[in-house]
Amino acid sequence: MKSSNKILMLYTGGTIGMKADEKTGTLAPFDFDFLLEQIPELKLIDCTIDTDSLDAPIDSSNIKPEHWTKLARRIEQDYHNYHGFVILHGSDTMAYTASALSFMLQNLSKPVILTGAQLPIGIPRSDARENLITTIEIATAKRSDQLAMVPEVCVYFEYNLYRGNRTHKTSTEDFEAFYSFNYPLLAQAGVNIKFNEAAILTPPGEPFRCSPELCTDVAVLTMFPGIQPHFVQSVLNNPEMKGLLLRTFGSGNAPTDKWLIDAVTGCMDRNVKVVNVSQCDGGAVNLGKYEASKALADAGIISSYDMTFEAALVKMMYLLEREADYKNFKLLFETPLRGELTRK
Ligand code: ASP
Repeated sequence: MKSSNKILMLYTGGTIGMKADEKTGTLAPFDFDFLLEQIPELKLIDCTIDTDSLDAPIDSSNIKPEHWTKLARRIEQDYHNYHGFVILHGSDTMAYTASALSFMLQNLSKPVILTGAQLPIGIPRSDARENLITTIEIATAKRSDQLAMVPEVCVYFEYNLYRGNRTHKTSTEDFEAFYSFNYPLLAQAGVNIKFNEAAILTPPGEPFRCSPELCTDVAVLTMFPGIQPHFVQSVLNNPEMKGLLLRTFGSGNAPTDKWLIDAVTGCMDRNVKVVNVSQCDGGAVNLGKYEASKALADAGIISSYDMTFEAALVKMMYLLEREADYKNFKLLFETPLRGELTRK
């Protein structure tokens, strides 16, 4: 008998479905049927799984905003036909894709869960099997009122379910490849799957909407001791730039050299939206805490608070497309839209 639980699984590529080239040993994406053949256990789950893939599976290093749009539109197309959506994705840029989808898919009342693996599925010690099977179980999980247990964009990896826009890839080797420094786990899988219901977003009353447009005219400038004016100028003087992410030290600090402050505030005068995002993974930007962030704070730099770099970058692209006025942009950027930041 066919199950009433229906999941749409979208395959984008990544290690999970890769196979080693017999001559060179290089890992390259393989096809979806091969992946499913490797996990016969999927047939034992009380769930019907339909599948689809991006045109050609890719290493996630090649993910572009166009792919995010395709994924978002694919989910929109079948939003009402499935209980949940599972996206198989390379881990390298999974946190960016999860962040992007969290902004593009508005008023979600269904789970969209990204997962992948550190070892290809055909390898005996691969983490792919557990990641995939538990992801599907979580995507079909319901609360006592029959609504979806996790109505948000998530990442599942190595027994942990994370809010997607809070994740950061922390290891190229460990099976536990991700971490959420500033937000608790949404669920943990052991003998049972324990959901942290207090941490999960409540489903909105509004109807679902897909809004995938992004502006990619953004630049990133990382602060480091010894940073030189001519290199900074070559980035900041670009007339195409509409948004700038300044990767600062600690709680939002930067060198206090006049040339640097002038260069950054000059951007703001041209209505370039400038966001302060810390190079630290844990904790938050706290503008004005130190003298070394005061001049930028006084000039109106935008705080990313405790957002990940990935979420801050995509939120910048998302809001640039929607809000031209600097003050309104700052207000929206500093407000949690999808649980991506906490203001204390
Ligand atoms: N390079 C791979 C990718 O991101 C790594 C992985 O899948 O984990 O596509």
